[in-house]
This record gives sequence, C-alpha cells and structure tokens, in this order.
Amino acid sequence: MSEKKYWDEKIETLPRADLEELQRRELKDILTFAYSNSAYYKEAFNAAGLTPADFNQLEDIQKFPFTNKATQRERQAKGGLLGDMIAVSEDDVVFVSASSGSTGVPTLSPFTKQDFDEWQDVESRLFYGAGMRKHDRYVHALNFSLFVGGPDVIGAQNLGALCIWAGTVPSERLLFILKEFQPTIIWTTPSYALYLGETALKMGIDPAKDLAIRTIIVAGEPGGSIGTTRETIEKVWNAELYDFFGLSDIFGACAGMCEAKDGLHIAEDHILVEVLDVKTGAPLPDGERGELVYTTLRKKARPLIRFRTGDIGSVNREPCSCGRTHARIKIHGRLDDMFIVSGVNIFPSDIEFVIRGTSGITGEYLIRLYEQNHSVKYRLEIEKSDDNNEPDDLLKERVAAALKTRLGVKPGDVTILNDGDLERATHKAKRLIDERTLIYEI
Ligand SMILES: [Zn+2]
Repeated sequence: MSEKKYWDEKIETLPRADLEELQRRELKDILTFAYSNSAYYKEAFNAAGLTPADFNQLEDIQKFPFTNKATQRERQAKGGLLGDMIAVSEDDVVFVSASSGSTGVPTLSPFTKQDFDEWQDVESRLFYGAGMRKHDRYVHALNFSLFVGGPDVIGAQNLGALCIWAGTVPSERLLFILKEFQPTIIWTTPSYALYLGETALKMGIDPAKDLAIRTIIVAGEPGGSIGTTRETIEKVWNAELYDFFGLSDIFGACAGMCEAKDGLHIAEDHILVEVLDVKTGAPLPDGERGELVYTTLRKKARPLIRFRTGDIGSVNREPCSCGRTHARIKIHGRLDDMFIVSGVNIFPSDIEFVIRGTSGITGEYLIRLYEQNHSVKYRLEIEKSDDNNEPDDLLKERVAAALKTRLGVKPGDVTILNDGDLERATHKAKRLIDERTLIYEI
C-alpha cells in the first residue's frame, strides 16, 4: 500500500464550505459550554448583553468580547490555581503549561485529558505535513520546563517516529546527540539553528556533511518564514526548513508549513482565525495585515474566545497546492516590536530579510531605536564576515542602500562589528533595543 499523503485526510482536505460549517457548529458549542461553565465568560457575555443564542452564523463571533493576556492574568488572580476563566473542575485538568509575562507572573494554560490528546493529534498532523514519517529519528530540542512546546514531542511519538527527548541542553551536548544518534529531524528556534550550525563548524563538524539532519522545524521567531533566513539555515544544514507557530495559550504548535512553504496551515477544526484592524477591531479582507485573533473551538479546560495575540499577520483561505483546505497564516511580527520611521511601519523581520540576504556579513544584527529631532530613527549593528576585505565605508553604504530599497527608509547609522561580536541566542534572540524616551502610539 502506498504511503498516505495526509495524517488525517478527511479533516485536512475538508471542502471549505464543510469546514466552515464544522467551525460554526463547534463555535456554537464552545460558546454555550463557556457561558454555562466559566464564571468569567458568563460575566463577560452578560456585560455585553449577549448569550450563546446570539451566535448563529460565523460572522456573529464579531459581536462577542475580546480576551487578551491581561484578561488571563486578571482572571487567574480570581482564586484557586487557575482562576475563573476555567470551565471544568480542577480534578479534570491533567496538564498546565506556563508562560512568564512581562510582570513575571506566569499565566497558566490548563488542559483536560481530551484537550491534551487532541493537541497531540494536531502535532502529529503538523509533523506529518512537514514530512516526518515512522522511519525518522527526531530530536526534540525544546524546553521541557513548563513550556508548552515541550510535550509536542508526544505528537511525533504518536506518529511513530523514534523520539529523542533532548530538551535544552548545552550545544556541545546537543551536537554529541546529533552525531551519535544521527537523527533526521530537529526542532529548535531559527536563531539557535544558526548558532548550532556555527558551533558545529567551530568543533570541526560540518552539519551539511557529518550529520543526518534533513529537516529542521523552527518556531518562536519569525525567521522560518523570512525567505533569506530560511535559505541560510537550509544551506548550513543541507536540510529543508519548516516553520511552525504555537501559542502557550493554545497549543505548542497551532500551525505549520506544508511542502508548498507558502504560509502555515492552521488547524482550523480547533482554531478560528480572525485578522482585525489593530485600531478599530474591524475584520480585514484575506491577505491584508492585521492583528491575529484566535478562538479555540474545542478546548474545554479554558476556552479562549477572541484572544488578541498581539501578532501581526495575514490569512489566506485559498486552496493550497498540497491539497489541504485549512487556511494558511503568515506572521510578520509582534505588534510590540513594530516601529514607525518616517511614516513607514517596520518590523524587525523586514530588516532581517535584508541582512540575511546581503553578502559579506554574518547575518547577525541588532537594531537600536532612538530619537533625533523628535523623530524616530533606527541604527543597526552588523558583523562583517572574516573573509570579507571590503572597506567598512563601502559595506555600510551597501547595507544602507539595500535597506532603503526594501523598506523605503535608510538606517540612521550602520555599525560594522567583527564576526562573533554580537551575542548569539540559544533561545529567542533579542534583536531590538528601544532607546527612545518618549511614548509612541501605533
Ligand atoms: Zn499546503
């Protein structure tokens, strides 16, 4: 028998109209469930003058109130470990992940057994879409301590791959695992994939030749969806890169690339996606950039209704060449990281696209925002490659011109550093330093 093309063909290729009807029914059920079982949702819907009876068509979701990270934090403080957004008894919760917010108070994300098992089935689906099969050896190099990405390894195991629970170990240790076990797939962050590749080369290991990795899954930063960054990582490792996207509030990964690599298929039987105008909250047409807002359709422990993520991206509901019908999302960056120079909205990912695609530099960078004559400016620190003999002035000009072409605005300055001067990230890279003293509104 030939190998199946999809993990779950029926659901992944459901005709669009049937998928939306499924979402409509699930949404009606989850609104009813949340209203009946969560003190928070009862209060929030009542305050908006709504009950689940007001929901009939998918568009009706637009009447319902938003939630966000602050809602979670406030309601978690309402008592018990999990607060009053929870919609089941704590006895039915089998797992919590936690993410540390800016206040340092971790917000918890609870799962019932069914939530957990369904989550892992989505992970199997996404791994399968990224080409993982039973014969693969898979290294899970994500943090296992409270982090929602940790348990995703179970999805790979349920798929039948041989799984190595590496966690976040020192690079030398991870490279030892890669050498000894010769795994074929690894999941890490894009920054770390580059750092690990550099470290390997310094240790005399060529990742493209001496290791068996043929697929790299990345998440946690936009890099995997920035063409030039993806190509750089693929070249270092001689591997295919697949970008995944997850949210501690929902699943370790909610969306992942297929072989077409044109956006990330989001599990629409579990998550409803809205793209909204940041200022007005009005829905935007497919393809336009706005804030991504998610509603969980099946999670019982803590349903999330209209959760504003602070991520800026777009959605594409056109059928994909892979045959899957679930929408593809593209995430451009965090709203918090966006800055405006001379009226142009700029995300660090726009700058990364240019830096990773420019020759003679290492691809590492740091952006500093500052003010000059009451307007916002940005300057860049980049590293010249060891083998580049080009004078610094010419290199500066070349980089500034490439940025001007792509973004429309030049950097205020470019500082040329030596290879290795910028700190390498072992998890999420800090690439933006805000030195502005005034407060800006978007
Ligand atoms: Zn596809």
